[in-house]
Amino acid sequence: MALINDHYLKLKAGYLFPEIGRRVNSFCEENPSAAVIKLGIGDVTEPLPAAIREAMHAAIDEMGNRETFRGYGPEQGYAFLREAIAKHDFQSRGVDISADEIFVSDGSKCDTGNILDIFGADNKVAVTDPVYPVYVDTNVMTGRTGAADESGRYAGLTYLPVTAENDFVPALPESPVDLIYLCYPNNPTGTVATKETLKQWVDYAKANGSIILFDAAYEAFITDPEIPHSIYEIEGAKEVAIEFRSFSKNAGFTGTRCAFTVVPKQLMGKTASGEPAEIHSLWNRRHCTKFNGVSYIIQKGTEAAYSEQGKQQIKELITFYLENARLLREGLESVGISVYGGVNAPYVWLKTPGESTSWDFFDELLQKAHLVGTPGSGFGASGEGYFRLSAFNSRDNINEAVTRFQKVVS
Ligand SMILES: *Cc1c(COP(=O)(O)O)cnc(C)c1O
Repeated sequence: MALINDHYLKLKAGYLFPEIGRRVNSFCEENPSAAVIKLGIGDVTEPLPAAIREAMHAAIDEMGNRETFRGYGPEQGYAFLREAIAKHDFQSRGVDISADEIFVSDGSKCDTGNILDIFGADNKVAVTDPVYPVYVDTNVMTGRTGAADESGRYAGLTYLPVTAENDFVPALPESPVDLIYLCYPNNPTGTVATKETLKQWVDYAKANGSIILFDAAYEAFITDPEIPHSIYEIEGAKEVAIEFRSFSKNAGFTGTRCAFTVVPKQLMGKTASGEPAEIHSLWNRRHCTKFNGVSYIIQKGTEAAYSEQGKQQIKELITFYLENARLLREGLESVGISVYGGVNAPYVWLKTPGESTSWDFFDELLQKAHLVGTPGSGFGASGEGYFRLSAFNSRDNINEAVTRFQKVVS
């Protein structure tokens, strides 16, 4: 009989979103007329920008013509897209990232999971708590942890709590770690990292020979001019960090699929015998062996995200979601709820009222207001007592949600 990867059996079986779904479905069966508003899962709601759709239409027509048809493209992405990314996302901010340090892919979820392929199994790994569950689960799957305890924390992982008590700034680990996942603007807390905070991490990584896995999926939501958009805005970061970016949340690509990973050429790890080894060439090898590139049509659409029209249309989307976030934030604050995030991010992270646990509050909000959010404890033990609301929704739904929310808690 074939052996399975036993590490998968340690996973807390997709607990969070299935459990939300189960509770919502059972509520809807009992209350078929209730108009439930979902502010739970972080998926965009607004349609793809016109500039992007037009570029995709044109690319489809190219594919329908023998002269301009394209088969396999470069695994790392077409030069036109890698160059546009390097220019608009990095060089325009004074960050010296070149096109060949960019690897185009079909999603940051995959990239943040797949990156573990090129790192040894014995690395000490740190995550913030609460955290985007993909980082934790992919470490479990690849055998980098022991079993989970009652609170859902896996043995062997270093958890760095981020709560109101530390202003959502993770403390440096007490004992050395090799890989550190940071996500800013943060999912789930909606908080951001200042230059000083990021500099501390870059300095830490340099001093300890660690690598930072920096997830900037929500970079486009940064409105505060003092907040870095890329970790490479910090001096020396190219020697210690990989950055993940996605078009999912800015350009509305959650269903279209395009993202990229930046692996600077200076970034080094070491072999088991202690020799320095270039990370860029390892990731290039992995990417080319296990991935065959993003569709030409999608890459042409993505390129249009950097056109003048595309940029303007994306800006309008971001402004729309951030206005939703503001309405949520201010509407909740006005009834005495402590609210975090929601300024440079599409997520509002709130302290549950009184002594309610995250799941108690989930049930109360569902029963009394027919609202669905995400219990903070689902993102990690330190998320207990918190709750996430997503600003990805229609304006009408956001306004209605705020009104209902206020009735429940006041
Ligand atoms: C949505 C999200 C992503 C983007 O994932 P894709 O696979 O590119 O859609 C990455 N990281 C975080 C933390 C996210 O919330």
